[in-house]
Amino acid sequence: MKTKTLKKNKVNVITLGCSKNIYDSEVLMGQLKNNKFDVVHESNDDDISTVIINTCGFIETAKQESIDTILQYAQGKKDGLIEKLYVTGCLSERYRDDLRKENLGVDGFFGTKDLPRLLKTLKADYKKELLGERLLTTPAHFAFFKISEGCDRPCSFCAIPIMRGKHESVPIEELVSRAESLANNGTKELILIAQDLTYYGLDIYKKRNLAELLNKLSDVKGIEWIRLHYAFPTGFPEDILEVIKEKSNICNYLDIPLQHISDNILASMRRGTTKKKTTDLLIKIKESVPGITVRTTLITGYPGETEENFQEMLAWVKEMKFDRLGVFPYSHEDDTHAFKLEDDVPEEVKQSRADEIMDAQSEISLELNELKIGKTFKVLIDRKEEEVYIGRTECDSPDVDNEVLIENTAQNLIVGNFYQVKIDSAEHYDLFGHVVE
Ligand code: SF4
Repeated sequence: MKTKTLKKNKVNVITLGCSKNIYDSEVLMGQLKNNKFDVVHESNDDDISTVIINTCGFIETAKQESIDTILQYAQGKKDGLIEKLYVTGCLSERYRDDLRKENLGVDGFFGTKDLPRLLKTLKADYKKELLGERLLTTPAHFAFFKISEGCDRPCSFCAIPIMRGKHESVPIEELVSRAESLANNGTKELILIAQDLTYYGLDIYKKRNLAELLNKLSDVKGIEWIRLHYAFPTGFPEDILEVIKEKSNICNYLDIPLQHISDNILASMRRGTTKKKTTDLLIKIKESVPGITVRTTLITGYPGETEENFQEMLAWVKEMKFDRLGVFPYSHEDDTHAFKLEDDVPEEVKQSRADEIMDAQSEISLELNELKIGKTFKVLIDRKEEEVYIGRTECDSPDVDNEVLIENTAQNLIVGNFYQVKIDSAEHYDLFGHVVE
């Protein structure tokens, strides 16, 4: 039975899913803090009265994790451990009517654009002037930086436009002032995110305007790294390549999910590109920005994917040697265009194909990491675990890429600072080194 008194104004925000959800949780927390709430993130404190779960509704496994988390806190509410439970985010946006019918003991379901209504329910004022002001959940030295919301792309397998709506770019001036305020609070790395980064500006400037945005952001004092995630291959704005190459504080790094490479599958996925166009673009990117780190994401087991298609993709992965790569087994999502197709690849085959690609990628990653031995890199220290400092080079994004481990150093390294680190050894997904100055 509950012993400790619950603090009426104490709110615990739980974030599931992607970096865009992390961003939204931070905006919500910024609003709550400004309304004098005692707001915490994924806390186990036992005096919390209200829990808000920011859910993910992307694919089956993510949806299940969101439902399990709701049930966990609903049970906590039944046991008197908390008083109020609210659910927001993508799963709620997509299935709120079904979820309501389940009578899970949730006090309210909110969509991805319902922040004002959620705050009103908590008797908090929605302060528009605070837009962009956030309570960071990441270490202060890096921040996810959402430049637009929603997506206008027709990718057949994707439910994100259903949950996030049409593409909306944030004006450059607004983004620059947000970056300045982050830099004033000690942020050194901006991780640019969107559903489709390369679509930036088409709505408000009637042209792809990412290059101009990058130029403006790179002039913000204190920002030492700007990293690009979620680029899209079709209509890729090649003018950004010159900016990436020229600007020393824009990381030679590009995340560009490609999803597949067989022409028939790309056509069915409605990606608007082909194997030749995609390969040519990758060659252009690598030639334009020598040494650039390229990350991609692929899907295995899409409807109609034959063993031949898969072998073609596997061979292409081995040939292209991506620096960073992730794979998702296809998830048959209702209300998407692909849902009309037969989900004809067995789950175990989807998974074994994903595993086979990651096995190949693991060897590629080791081979590329070993080429870094003896070289010195600028490393940002993210944290310290026991006696080991852990950081990243500009080739690595937090949580998804490689890390640099600095062991047994007598020096007192400062988390959030940069150091020159010489690489002594390498493993599949980690580098080991020592500080050289
Ligand atoms: S670009 Fe395609 S895969 Fe990405 S969010 Fe938009 S529709 Fe989904």
